[in-house]
Amino acid sequence: MTTTSQEQSVIDSVDGKLLIGGEWRDASGGERFSVEDPSTGESLCEVADGTPDDATAALDAAVSAQAEWAATAPNERSEILYSAFTALTEKIDDLALLMTLEMGKSLAESKAEIAYSAEFFRWFSGEALRAAGYYKPAGNGTGRVLVMRQPVGPCYFITPWNFPTAMGTRKIGPAIAAGCTMVIKPAQQTPLSMLALGKLLGECGLPDGVLNIVTSTSSGDVSGPVIGDGRLRKLSFTGSTEVGRKLIAQSAENVLKVSMELGGNAPFLVFADADMDAAIEGAMIAKMRNVGEACTSANRFHVHESLAEEFAEKLAAKMGALKVGRGTEEDTDVGPLIDDDQRSKVAELVEDAVGKGAEAVVGGSRVDGPGYFYEPTVLSGVTDDARVLGEEIFGPVAPVATFSDDDEAVAAANDTEFGLVSYVYTNDLKRSLRVCEALETGMIGLNQGMVSNAGAPFGGVKQSGNGREGGNEGIHEYLETKYVAINL
Ligand code: NAP
Repeated sequence: MTTTSQEQSVIDSVDGKLLIGGEWRDASGGERFSVEDPSTGESLCEVADGTPDDATAALDAAVSAQAEWAATAPNERSEILYSAFTALTEKIDDLALLMTLEMGKSLAESKAEIAYSAEFFRWFSGEALRAAGYYKPAGNGTGRVLVMRQPVGPCYFITPWNFPTAMGTRKIGPAIAAGCTMVIKPAQQTPLSMLALGKLLGECGLPDGVLNIVTSTSSGDVSGPVIGDGRLRKLSFTGSTEVGRKLIAQSAENVLKVSMELGGNAPFLVFADADMDAAIEGAMIAKMRNVGEACTSANRFHVHESLAEEFAEKLAAKMGALKVGRGTEEDTDVGPLIDDDQRSKVAELVEDAVGKGAEAVVGGSRVDGPGYFYEPTVLSGVTDDARVLGEEIFGPVAPVATFSDDDEAVAAANDTEFGLVSYVYTNDLKRSLRVCEALETGMIGLNQGMVSNAGAPFGGVKQSGNGREGGNEGIHEYLETKYVAINL
C-alpha cells in the first residue's frame, strides 16, 4: 500500500534525527532504522539509530542546561507549557495521523491521545507556579523549620510504544514545571511522535538542551551508560514490569530516584446490583481503548453468576459490531496490534483458554491479510487456570469469569502480582466503599471505564510500579525537599 500525500507530508514533517542540545543530529555511527506501519508491515521512513556515545552526548547537554534552566522564573516555565498545550491542540489532526501511521490505532483514538497528552501540559503549567515549601515554628517554640523544594536535576525517561505521546508528556510536563532537564528514549516502534513533540516544544520556546531525544534500536546499550552516570539524578520509566525490574536494579548503583509505571492486569468487577447497560458501556471503554494495548486495559471480567451470561452476550454484540481496519480509514474502530509477536501472544492466550474449556462468543482469530489485526473477542466460561486471567493480554480480548459473593470477587481481583487499576460496577454505596477499600490497586474506576486524567495521580501498587504521574502528586517526583533548621 502506498501512503497518501497527506500521510507523506506528516511523515516528512519529522526530522528523523537525534535532538541533542537543540541541534538535530545524525547518529554518531551514521546508522538509521526503519519505522513500520503495523497495518501494512511496510516501512514508513527511517530515523537515526542512536549509540551509547549519542546518549552520553544527550546527557552532557542536559547537564549543561540544568543550572540555568532551574533558575528560570516559574512564570516562564508555565508559559512554555501553556503554549505547548495550545500547540498540541491546534496540531491535533497532523499529530494524530502521524501517531496512527506508526502505532496503528484509529484516528479517533490518536486524537484522544493527543488531547490527553496536551492536558498534562495545561495541568503542569499551573503546577509550575505552585511548587511551594513552607515555614513553621519548631516544636520547642524557639527554632524554625524552613522547607524548600528544588528541582531534582537531569532526568532520563524511557517510554513505551502504546501511548507514544502521552507517556512522554506525563513525564516532560512535570519535569519542565519543576525546572529539570531531560533525555528521552522513546520506543523504537514509535519514535516519530516523540520527535514531533520535541520539535513542537522547541517552537514553544523550550531552551536548547532542556529536552534531548535519542532514538535507538539498542535500548539497553544506550541506557546503561546514562543510568550509570553519576550526573543523572532521576530515572522515570513506563513499560513492562520485566524491564522495570532490570532498570531498578541498575539504578541502585547510584541510588537514583526512580518512578516506575509498569504492567497491569486490571480486573473489571460487575456486581449483581450493577446497571447492566452502564457496565457494558464501561467495559467497551476499559477493554477497547487503544485496541486493548493499554496498561489500564480491563484484562479480565469477573461478573456475578446471575448476570454473567447476559453480560457476555451483550458485550459480544458490541465487540462483534466494531469495524476492524487500517487506523487511517475514517470508519475504523479497531486498528492492528503493534507487531506479529504481540498478535501471536494474544492468539496463544485465546487458544490456551479455549483449550481449557472457554467458549469464544465472538471473534477468536487473527484477521487474514497484511498487518497485525486480531478480531475483537469475548470468551465466556473462562476457567481459573486459564493464562488469559493471569497474564497481561494487550489485545482486544475480553475473558469473562464468574463469582458468587463479594469476598470471592475481591479475592479474585487481588490474585495477581499487579496492582495498577480496577473497575467496579455496583449501585450499592456501602458495597462500593467496602470493595474500593479492599482492592490492592493504585486506581479504581467506580462505575466508569476510564481513570486517566491529568489532574489525578496515575500509578500502581505491588509490581505495577511506584510513584505517581499527574495530579497534585506528579510534580513531587521532580522536586527534592530540603529542610533548613533555624535557631532564632
Ligand atoms: P517494554 O518492552 O518494557 O519497553 C518499554 C520501553 O523500554 C521501550 O522504550 C523499550 O525500548 C525500552 N527498553 C526495553 N528494554 C530495555 C532495557 N533493557 N533497558 C532500557 N530500556 C529498555 O514495554 P512495551 O512492550 O513497549 O510496553 C508495554 C508495557 O508497558 C506493558 O506491560 C504495559 O502495561 C506497560 N505500560 C505501563 C503504563 C503505566 O503507566 N503503568 C503505561 C503504558 C504502558 P525498545 O522499544 O527499543 O524495546
